[in-house]
Amino acid sequence: MTIHARDRFLGELTTGWALSAHARPLTVEQHDIERLLRAELARLGTRVEWNTELTDVQVRADRAEFTLRRADGTEEFATAPWIVDCEGTAGVVRDRLGIPFEDRCRTGLQVVQGNARPTWPLGERPGRGHIFLAPHRSLLVFPLPGGGFRFFCFRDDPDPELTAAPPSTNCATWSRTPPGCPVSGSTPRNRSG
Ligand SMILES: Cc1cc2nc3c(=O)[nH]c(=O)nc-3n(C[C@H](O)[C@H](O)[C@H](O)COP(=O)(O)OP(=O)(O)OC[C@H]3O[C@@H](n4cnc5c(N)ncnc54)[C@H](O)[C@@H]3O)c2cc1C
Repeated sequence: MTIHARDRFLGELTTGWALSAHARPLTVEQHDIERLLRAELARLGTRVEWNTELTDVQVRADRAEFTLRRADGTEEFATAPWIVDCEGTAGVVRDRLGIPFEDRCRTGLQVVQGNARPTWPLGERPGRGHIFLAPHRSLLVFPLPGGGFRFFCFRDDPDPELTAAPPSTNCATWSRTPPGCPVSGSTPRNRSG
């Protein structure tokens, strides 16, 4: 991982010493992770039922009773010995179990990310990422398995009142933000969390 600041090479971080078959920086896309998880579930005989919402759950001594709403609006009542709650920040199961959601907003920080194939003199080597540092903002650039990079742009929040998604601009516009990042053009690709 090369660290740059103000047009200067600042230093290097080495991460390849971990005892792993993939001991180097690599960004794996969420849709790829989901594909792998779906394949593993299928191998174990489980089918994912998309567009099906859990709307209620009651936990009994020996089972859980729950209500599902399908995409066409129909509801289904069912029971299961166990329910595993993976609802993210939503919380039907958490609410019904009376577990509080201890959350707080991180203020003063704006993060924009996107994938791009930059046109720059830094090249593209497997496992080679870059960090660009500048006052009030920084840019982390990690390689993607299929080529190109994921750009993570962190900066102080220019307007905390703005909570909507930022406008879809050319990646190069914000990736050029830190001085010293020599991106001269980029081709945005898909974005995922
Ligand atoms: C913009 C953004 C960028 C991110 N970038 C990264 C990154 O680069 N790297 C990284 O490691 N992490 C990243 N994260 C964090 C990462 O996305 C989360 O940590 C991760 O997705 C949490 O996984 P989860 O399975 O707990 O929840 P989620 O991914 O939120 O999954 C919960 C799922 O449950 C479903 N669901 C919710 N309620 C119900 C219900 N009642 N019935 C049925 N289904 C329901 C939701 O639709 C959703 O599909 C990012 C997050 C955001 C918002």
